[in-house]
Amino acid sequence: MTQEDLFKNIIAHAKEYGFIFPSSDIYDGLGAVYDYGQNGVELKNNIKKYWWDSLVRMYDNITGLDSAVFMHPKVWEASGHVSAFNDPLIDNKDSKKRYRADVLLEDYIAKLEEKINKEVVKGKKRFAEAFDEEQFRATNPNVLREKEKIDSVRGKMVKALNDNDLEGLRQLIVDCGIACPVSGTKNWTEVRKFNLMFSTKLGSTEDGASQIYLRPETAQGIFVNFLNVQKSGRMKIPFGIAQIGKAFRNEIVARQFIFRMREFEQMEMQFFVKPGEEMKWYQYWKDMRLRWHLSLGLGENMYRYHDHDKLAHYANAACDIEFQFPFGFKELEGIHSRTDFDLSRHEEYSGRKLRYFDPETNESYIPYVVETSIGLDRTFLSVLSASYREETLEDGETRVVLRIPPVLAPVKLAVFPLIKKDGLPEVAHEILKALRLEHHCLYDEKDSIGKRYRRMDAIGTPYCITVDHQTLEDKTVTLRDRDTMLQDRVAIDSLSGILDKKLNSKYWLEKLV
Ligand code: ATP
Repeated sequence: MTQEDLFKNIIAHAKEYGFIFPSSDIYDGLGAVYDYGQNGVELKNNIKKYWWDSLVRMYDNITGLDSAVFMHPKVWEASGHVSAFNDPLIDNKDSKKRYRADVLLEDYIAKLEEKINKEVVKGKKRFAEAFDEEQFRATNPNVLREKEKIDSVRGKMVKALNDNDLEGLRQLIVDCGIACPVSGTKNWTEVRKFNLMFSTKLGSTEDGASQIYLRPETAQGIFVNFLNVQKSGRMKIPFGIAQIGKAFRNEIVARQFIFRMREFEQMEMQFFVKPGEEMKWYQYWKDMRLRWHLSLGLGENMYRYHDHDKLAHYANAACDIEFQFPFGFKELEGIHSRTDFDLSRHEEYSGRKLRYFDPETNESYIPYVVETSIGLDRTFLSVLSASYREETLEDGETRVVLRIPPVLAPVKLAVFPLIKKDGLPEVAHEILKALRLEHHCLYDEKDSIGKRYRRMDAIGTPYCITVDHQTLEDKTVTLRDRDTMLQDRVAIDSLSGILDKKLNSKYWLEKLV
């Protein structure tokens, strides 16, 4: 199966099993806006909780915040979003499709990288045991030629973006011979700038109303509350403020399902440090955030760092943690050293001091900030896509299973009576009553036991408990594991302890301390 087909199957599965629906589905959906169904909302809440607990609960010096979506319009002038939150867009005159100029170039670079990888695979085959990948990459003429092209295109792209040289970007697309994936032609318009913020009016009368924006990131809510939190929480530098919330961007190219949405959620943490110490903390959070991802067990090879060539106007260092989505490695989280840019600008625009008074040195200063910013929906997609499997079993049957890390699974366990009579449903309900105090559980008595197992596999339920006639005799049940499909006979009394060891988030969180 191609990756494209696999991705289509994942999207269809997400709808069929109540994870994700297109927004306003009965009206044929709304571009790049999605709703989370009964299982989606549980998975999403579990991701949020795992992120929140790993920071706000595990660190003395990180605290939470929930700031409003609407903010004073000056916030976005100060942050630079009014003047600089633009994407360069270009249209193909034949297909009438619109693209981000930088994304067209990135895709072109990814194709060249793919060529290099193919050369490496060929080399591996040819030289077998004697193959030295590092040496091959450093000396093979085909690899070197492609690498030179990549460096040249990337260098020119970064320069054009930094210089705001829109004509230069267009020329680069033309020089690279990039064609529209839909029409196949190279008939491009000029490159134009497009601001990604949604605006609306606050107030009821047209005259009195003022134009405001839907926030394009949650970070600014943290910056403007920096002193409120520091003073009311008696926080000492270094300290962090974490927030989860909606953000809105009028993305030009909205594709790839929930990877790029117009309404999405971010989980951001701004860590305030002493000027001069930001690189140490940047490195710390780069390491810690990767450890957080790895703790989920989706596979080390699924993640990689990508250091930024082009730094945003506020940053002095930045990198992404990329994830191998079905459509390739793409950004999942950003870690940015934002200097004192935001706080200084808010001082300037608000006329209020935003300084930290250090009681040890008796100095006041504007702290530097290291930010970790992760998309909740992209994390959702990473978990969904990496855990989706179409398996053929020993007896030739097939099953679709979501091997979601148990700590995140929407439903933790299901309780079934083997049949709908002989007092088995009553016992199953007793068990359910006790276990749902600790975990999100489902009860199911319809269809054969095999079908019920399949339904739970399809939504990623890690454990199923079946009550049968033996239960009535010896107070034991079967406990079935989603991944191995093995069944253990265990005492009802021991269920709570066994499941706690498998499902309690502390066994995941302890990997992070
Ligand atoms: P991209 O380059 O993919 O547009 P970005 O660099 O603009 O992303 P940031 O501004 O750093 O993204 O936002 C932090 C995180 O928020 C990203 O790593 C991503 O996970 C998430 N994010 C950003 N834009 C979107 C979107 N349109 N839909 C879903 N998640 C998003």
